[in-house]
Amino acid sequence: MIKIKKKKILLLPGDGIGPEVIAEVKKIINWYNQKKNLNFEIDEDLVGGCSYDKHGTPLTDEVFYKALESAVIMLGAVGGPKWDTVEFAKKPERALLKLRKELKLFANLRPAICFKQLVEASTLKPEIVSGLNIMIVRELTGGIYFGEPRGIKPIDNGERRGTNTHTYTSSEIIRVARIAFDLAKKRSNKVTSCEKSNVMEAGQLWKEEVQLLHDNEYSEVELNHMLADNCAMQLLRNPKQFDVIVTDNLFGDILSDQASMLTGSLGLLPSASLGAKNKDGEMRAMYEPIHGSAPDITGKGIANPIASILSFAMALKYSFNNDKESENLEQAVQAVLDDGFRTIDIMSKGKKEVSTSQMGDAIISKLK
Ligand code: NAD
Repeated sequence: MIKIKKKKILLLPGDGIGPEVIAEVKKIINWYNQKKNLNFEIDEDLVGGCSYDKHGTPLTDEVFYKALESAVIMLGAVGGPKWDTVEFAKKPERALLKLRKELKLFANLRPAICFKQLVEASTLKPEIVSGLNIMIVRELTGGIYFGEPRGIKPIDNGERRGTNTHTYTSSEIIRVARIAFDLAKKRSNKVTSCEKSNVMEAGQLWKEEVQLLHDNEYSEVELNHMLADNCAMQLLRNPKQFDVIVTDNLFGDILSDQASMLTGSLGLLPSASLGAKNKDGEMRAMYEPIHGSAPDITGKGIANPIASILSFAMALKYSFNNDKESENLEQAVQAVLDDGFRTIDIMSKGKKEVSTSQMGDAIISKLK
C-alpha cells in the first residue's frame, strides 16, 4: 500500500478555466508556506483533456501514483467541447471517476451557503435564502453509477435494453451516514436522510441502516427521514429547515446541484470528496469547485476563483485539521466581498469588477 505523505498537495488544474482558478489557489498555498510556515509540499500535473492530448489518456499511471501518495488533491475542472467525440473510456471525466473510485473517496461534501453580500444573486426570494447554510453529504462510490450488471444489449424484435443496477451494502451506507452525523455534531445537530424507501428496496435498507446507526451511536443528533422527491420540493419551499442532508449517489447528484443553485453562483461553491481514515488517522481527499471548465470564458482571465479557494479552505479543515486557518481564509473571502469586489459572474451595480488574479490577490491581502 502506498503511504500518504501528510503535507503533500497535488494540483491538477485540468482544462478550460481550471488552470486559471487553481493558479490562485497555488498563490494562497505559497502564502501559507511563506507566512505561516505550514510546509505544504506542492506538486502539479495534467488531468483530463490536456492529459489526453499529451499522453492519449485522461489520467496517466504516473499521475495516479502521485494522487495515491498525496494527502490532498486540488482539482480544477476537466472536459470541454474539444473532447466531446473522444471514445467513452478516454473522456476527460473518466479521470475523475477513476480517482474517486480508486482512492475510495466515498463521501462527497457540498456546502450550499448563501453569502449575505450576494442574496440578490439567487432566483429565490431573499427571505427564503438569506443566511442559508446546508451541507449535502452524497455517497460517491456506490449505487447506480457503479452497480453491476450494466450495459446496453440487443433483445428481441430489433430492440435494445439499457440496464443499470442500484445497489448498496450496509457498510457502504453506514460509513457515509457516520460522516453526516459527525458533521452535524459540529453544526446544528440535525441530519435529514433521503431515499425512496417507498418504492426501492435499496432505499428501505438505506433508511433502516441510518436509523440503526443513529440509535446505537448518535441518538443525541436529531434525525429525520425524507423521500428524495419531497426533499427536492422542500429545498425550494423552505431550504433553511435543513442542516446536513445525507443521501445516495444518484439523488445526491441531483439534490446537491439543486441546492447549489439556491445560492446564486456556480463560481462560489466548493466541494470535498473524502476517503476513509487509516489506522494512523490519515485519509486521502480531493477538493474541487463544483463548476466545470466553462469553455465560454476560458482564457479571458474573468473566472471566479472563490469556489476553488473555498475548496482549499475545506482542505485546511478536513485534511489538515486546521480550523483556524480554514476560518481565516473563509473570512478573507467574506471581507473581499464586503469591500464590493466582484468577478463578472457575481457583478452587480455599484460594485468593483475584478479579474481572476485580482480577486486572488485581494483575498490574500485580507489573510491574517
Ligand atoms: P460549467 O460549470 O463549466 O459552466 C456553466 C456556466 O457557468 C458557464 O456559463 C460558465 O461560464 C459559468 N461558470 C462556471 N464556473 C465559473 C466561474 N468559476 N466563474 C465564472 N463563471 C463560471 O458547466 P458546463 O458549461 O455545463 O460544462 C462545461 C464543461 O465542463 C463540460 O465539458 C462538462 O462536462 C465539464 N464539467 C466538468 C466538471 C468537473 O470537472 N468536475 C463539472 C461540471 C462540468
